[in-house]
Amino acid sequence: MDSPSEFSQFTLRSFTVSDERRTPVFRVAVHHSGTDADVDALVRDVEAIVREARHVFGEYPPFEGNTYTFIADYLPWAHGDGMEHRNSTVLTSASAIQFNRSNLLDAVAHEFFHSWNVERIRPKSLEPFNLEETNMSGELWFAEGFTNYYGPLTMKRAGLSTLRAFTRDMGDAIEKVTTSPARQIRSAVEMSRMAPFVDAAAAIDHTNFSNTYISYYTWGSAIGLGLDLSLRDRTDGKVTLDHFMRALWEKFGRPGTNVPGYVETPYTLDDLKSMLGTLAGDATFAQDFFARYVEGHDVPDYARLLGRAGIVVKTNAGRAFAGELTLQDDPAGVRITADVPYGSPAYQAALERDDVLLSVGGTKVTRSADVDRLITARKPGEPLPIAYERRGARLSTALKLVEDPRLELVPIEETGQPLTDAQRRFRELWLSSAARNSF
Ligand SMILES: [Zn+2]
Repeated sequence: MDSPSEFSQFTLRSFTVSDERRTPVFRVAVHHSGTDADVDALVRDVEAIVREARHVFGEYPPFEGNTYTFIADYLPWAHGDGMEHRNSTVLTSASAIQFNRSNLLDAVAHEFFHSWNVERIRPKSLEPFNLEETNMSGELWFAEGFTNYYGPLTMKRAGLSTLRAFTRDMGDAIEKVTTSPARQIRSAVEMSRMAPFVDAAAAIDHTNFSNTYISYYTWGSAIGLGLDLSLRDRTDGKVTLDHFMRALWEKFGRPGTNVPGYVETPYTLDDLKSMLGTLAGDATFAQDFFARYVEGHDVPDYARLLGRAGIVVKTNAGRAFAGELTLQDDPAGVRITADVPYGSPAYQAALERDDVLLSVGGTKVTRSADVDRLITARKPGEPLPIAYERRGARLSTALKLVEDPRLELVPIEETGQPLTDAQRRFRELWLSSAARNSF
């Protein structure tokens, strides 16, 4: 079950990398519609990821057969996915290497990180894996989420992406977690337990997940970022998330297996908490971090933490906002096609999915761009009359606009402010190749 096979006309490349204990063979098998030159370019970048990732843990896992295989299918008819295995990964995408290299590589970085985190550093809730019933796990914010944090981080450290691309990824995660009403409903641990209902599962009836669910991938990566920066902030860069991952590897991953296919020492949530306390030299810090951000509903102070690396959280302060509405042009006006976010001005004004907006502020609307324009032309706090149609009835309401909570992360030097020496140093220790800071 954990060793996928593919029979196809693939192109095969391989390389070895030594970690001083072992010299595993890495194979890249690509079934695609591009050229051999595309594969060669891809493999160079895969090797950079493979080299970079091991500096977090200090060593490669002892791959069975001493070989790890990337099986990639980049074909127009493929359904995009990535699946981790102990000694391989299957990566599929409908796009070609030539046109979508950085996204394909991001999936490579993510799945390869799993060969430590989840394949060997494994939550007890998934061990042993039950092939007949659901393994419900409260640790996917860590197993998937921290892996999701390390994907873009590894790309940045390996020189395969830009600071801008990295901050865009992190900004998207922070924005989602900060603004979603779902955060007040379930914690990151509880979101993890939703996996059987959301990951690869398709609900056939309407759910309210857009209001009640945040992906544990997204929330987990935001927690990973928050924890990495908090540790660096507390210790001036001496203790980092890399140390945490390595300590977990040594305690839970390295002991390996006695029975093939079973992880000898799986971890629990309390294990993660106590390891963090030990590493930080402060059990209260670990208790508090977990209580607030993992088992609670708070978010770390990202603006302050990112400020240490000279990254600014830029908001749309002063801009009017009615809630993140999904709109579609409709013969009668503009239709709301997804759930209205709980607590937003549109929600307070009792607007609902499938309502058709007819006029905004007295102006007739026929395109979704009209609605956006009429809202942003106003000021936060202003009332905005709306006429709409619901199941044949014409109704009216008024939005009380608020300030736009959406955000973007911007390197401080792009805002016209100087990057200080301390910020530069903090940023370099965090984002430059971990090989340089190897401990
Ligand atoms: Zn994953």
